[in-house]
Amino acid sequence: MLRIACPFCGVRDHSEFTYLGDAEPQRPAHQDQDAKRWFDYVYLRDNPCGKISEYWHHLHGCREWLVVHRDTQTHEIFGAELARDFNAKRNNGLSGGIGSDKAGQASREQSSGLARPTLREGGGEDGR
Ligand SMILES: [Zn+2]
Repeated sequence: MLRIACPFCGVRDHSEFTYLGDAEPQRPAHQDQDAKRWFDYVYLRDNPCGKISEYWHHLHGCREWLVVHRDTQTHEIFGAELARDFNAKRNNGLSGGIGSDKAGQASREQSSGLARPTLREGGGEDGR
């Protein structure tokens, strides 16, 4: 059994979390039209035997995205941090990626039922 130390909630059983995957691949820029880079980001993952950084979502807790540093061979957990802090560090202080403020805000709005559908100006949802 894995026990993950959430920065907000403390040590919790892994059953409170959902697993997303390797946190190392970086999403290409929105405008990037290089199909190979997008293919690599979406489909190709390493399967390391040893230390890895992974995204975990504290679904049944604070609902924050975390990056958990873990050994895939021994299951030892070396630490956990907020995904937005992890991504800001590797992006030289710029936020972005999973757990960024904007993505976190959308996640919190959806979970609390605060998200509102947006209608285009001038009529219904089909734009007529
Ligand atoms: Zn938590």
